[in-house]
This record gives sequence, C-alpha cells and structure tokens, in this order.
Amino acid sequence: GGDEILAELREKLSPRGDLVSPRGRELTQAVFGKPLTPIEVVETICRDVQTEGTSALLRYTESLDRTQLTGETLRVPAEDLREAHAAADPEFLESIRQIRDNIAEFQSAIRHHDVTIEPRPGVRLTQRYTPMRRVGICVPGGAAAYPSTVLMTAVPAQVAGVDEIVVVAPPTRFGAYNQDMLATCHELGIKEVYRCGGAQAVAAMAYGCDALPAVDKIVGPGNLFVALAKKHVFGTVDIDSFAGPSEVIVIADSTASPAFIAADLLAQAEHSPGSAILITWDESIIDSVRSELQSQLAELDRSDLTRDALADFGALILVRDAEQACELTDSFAPEHLHIETADPDNQIARIRNSGAAFLGHHTPVALGDYAAGPSHVLPTGGTCKWAAGLSVNSFLRSGSVTMFTADATKAISEDVIRIAEKEGLTAHARSVSIRTEP
Ligand code: NAD
Repeated sequence: GGDEILAELREKLSPRGDLVSPRGRELTQAVFGKPLTPIEVVETICRDVQTEGTSALLRYTESLDRTQLTGETLRVPAEDLREAHAAADPEFLESIRQIRDNIAEFQSAIRHHDVTIEPRPGVRLTQRYTPMRRVGICVPGGAAAYPSTVLMTAVPAQVAGVDEIVVVAPPTRFGAYNQDMLATCHELGIKEVYRCGGAQAVAAMAYGCDALPAVDKIVGPGNLFVALAKKHVFGTVDIDSFAGPSEVIVIADSTASPAFIAADLLAQAEHSPGSAILITWDESIIDSVRSELQSQLAELDRSDLTRDALADFGALILVRDAEQACELTDSFAPEHLHIETADPDNQIARIRNSGAAFLGHHTPVALGDYAAGPSHVLPTGGTCKWAAGLSVNSFLRSGSVTMFTADATKAISEDVIRIAEKEGLTAHARSVSIRTEP
C-alpha cells in the first residue's frame, strides 16, 4: 500500500523538537550543564537574549559556535564585503547577476498591487500593500555554504521594496566567513551581515539588541534550533515557515528516462536528510530506476550520506494508474513535485497540493533550486496544504483603507446602528448616529 508507505514517511519527516544527535547532546551538556531537549535549549537561549541582549548573543556565539566576538566584530565590516566581491570569480558573479534578474522578473510579475473599488457612490474601499521596513535572513553555515539562499530570500524582499535587509550566518567557513556568500551579499547591495547563527541569532533579530536591531520578519532555512527558535519568536515577529527536511515526489510513466529519474531522486536525497519518492504505474521503470540509483550513487561526492537518506526516507511506489498517483501525491502534499510523464499538464491539474511543481522530462528541480525564478524556500512536511513558498508577497504587509462621504455614511447607518445595538455597543451606534441625525 502506497498510502501506508507515504503515511510512515510523513511521520518520519515531521520536524520533531525532541530529537537530537549524540554530538548535539554533548554540546547541550557542556553549555547548559544538564541534558535539555532542543525545545528547552531554544527557550533558554531566547529568554536570555531577550533579557540580556548583546551579551547573551555573544556568550552563546562563543559557547555554541566557539567564536569570540564583540559588539563591533559581530558585524561583518563593509571592507570585508567589498574584498570578497573583488576577489570573487567573475563568472560566479555573472551567474549571480543572471539569477538575480530571473528571480526579480518572476517576482515583479506576481507582486500584489493595491486594489480600489467604489461599490456605491461616495464609498471608496482599498486594499493597500506596503513593503515591510526591515527583515532578517537566516543563512545556514553548518555543513555547506548557500549563496543560493541569499538570492532566493533577499531578491524577493528587494522586489517588494523592503528598506533594510539583514543577513545572519554562523561564524564558520560555510557561514559568515564564506567568501562566496559575502560576495553575493555585496553584489545584491546587502550591507548588514552578522556573524551569528542558531537560536541566538533568531532571538536577537526578533527582540533586538544594541549590536543587532530588531527586524519585522525572519525568513530563511536552518537546522532544528533555527526552526524551533523561529517558531518561538513568531508573534513578536513574523516568520516564513517551520521547515523540516526537503522532499520530492517524482511521478513517472513509461516515457520517462530511468537515468533522469534516478538523478532527480539522488539530488533530493543529497540534502541528507532529504526524502525522495518515485510514484509510477509502470513496473519496469521501478527496476531500471533501482539499478540506475546504484550506479549513479557510486559517482557522487556525498554518496554515503545520500545512500543513508535514500534508505531512511526514500520509496519506489507502484500504483494502479495515473489517477491513483495523483491521489497519493495530493494527500502527501510534497514540497517539490516533478511530473515526468507524456502529459504533465493533465496530472498537475488533478493535484491540489504541492509546494513547487516541475513539469516534463527536462525540468529538474535543481533549476528551481538555483535559477528559474520562484523562490526555493518552500513549505515542507505537508504544510503546502495551507502554506505557500516564499515570494515577493511574503514581504508585503497589507491593510485596508476606507472612505465614506456623509451621504454614503447616512445610507449605511441603519444597518450599523441595528447590529451595534444588538451587540450592546451603544457607543459604536452613537458614533454613527451623531453624524446622521439632524
Ligand atoms: P545552521 O547554520 O542552520 O545552524 C547552525 C547553528 O545551530 C550553530 O551556529 C549553533 O548556534 C546552532 N546549534 C548547533 N547545534 C546546537 C546545539 N546542540 N544546541 C544549540 N544550538 C546548536 O546549521 P546547518 O547545519 O548548516 O543546517 C542547515 C539546514 O538547513 C540543513 O538541514 C539544510 O539542509 C537546510 N537548508 C535548507 C535549504 C532550503 O531552502 N530548503 C537551503 C539551505 C539549507
């Protein structure tokens, strides 16, 4: 049963606050002097940063990231950003500019615009969208460097018109000391980059401190501590999502190339953990993909981690037909969906839930990860049933604007007064009648 396999995977993939590696447990013991769950760790860090400010931020940066900084050295100096940019490979910068343009083109096209209606004479109703003033972006720095994360978060914010963009990255060679990441920030005109990560960086951005003034919204990926901290500070600031491991469902028919499918599954498993699921109604595809996976795995840089992720979170599922494939996919609600069939438009029309869909044999998910235009920050764990991926619109706040003339207020006054009196709110009723009664 494909549905049981998928239900089990969904359970395994949900981000859990009580799971932590042996190394993480050791670090917790060393820093806090007792065993705490990640939720307890995050609550402690957030509380300390909220009450003590910069000193707690620096203390946790020292104990968790083994880096001694001061209120001044926390922020990457402008000259370091300039130097990283000057030393960067010109072809790398050219790609960054090209991708920025691709993202900006798509995001500009989908930006919400103000809507005004005049439903009756003397009545003007507007829904107004204005950019947030200041937003924070988490760039991970543990296991790999992610210039793509900067592009996929900062460019939509810039298209929205956000005034101030703050980047935080752990003080590591993959994070705030990564030259490609710094060069990317400089290319995009981002001036505020801070050498901090984890829950302490999220708390500092939410509550603000001398060394790092507060933002209005925090976005971007991160490990469990970052995700839990974002959840903790939600309400003080907005966040993009509570993200778990990356996932893909590939739907394939007999027209698909087993070599392509295997490459697509491996690309997702490479996130380690990343979940890679094939759903097909062609039995022969399953066998060919299985042997392709074996041979392609051997050639990958991260083959051990990728093999483990496939074993833990992978599945090859045989279904009756295309309809069953669509039903299973819809109920799993994958972050990424790749339809490698003769008629992908037909299948996508039958699937409500997917974070980002990629259609056809020549549209690998990696195009979306790096360069196509939509952001790669997407809802995981089945949350695309109600959440959307990050976009320009994630950085707009909206509000209504209402204006009535005296005649229009008179025309609607009876309804307002009747309901206000029913609710016992006579002051409400009076604020209308005072204007309409002779
Ligand atoms: P990270 O940079 O998000 O977090 C590292 C920080 O976590 C450290 O600086 C430290 O402060 C904190 N930390 C680590 N262990 C801790 C402990 N035991 N107690 C308290 N704090 C602790 O980490 P990362 O390892 O680079 O992970 C990034 C994650 O983001 C990966 O899972 C990666 O796959 C994911 N990612 C997703 C996307 C996407 O768009 N979907 C893009 C890039 C990365």
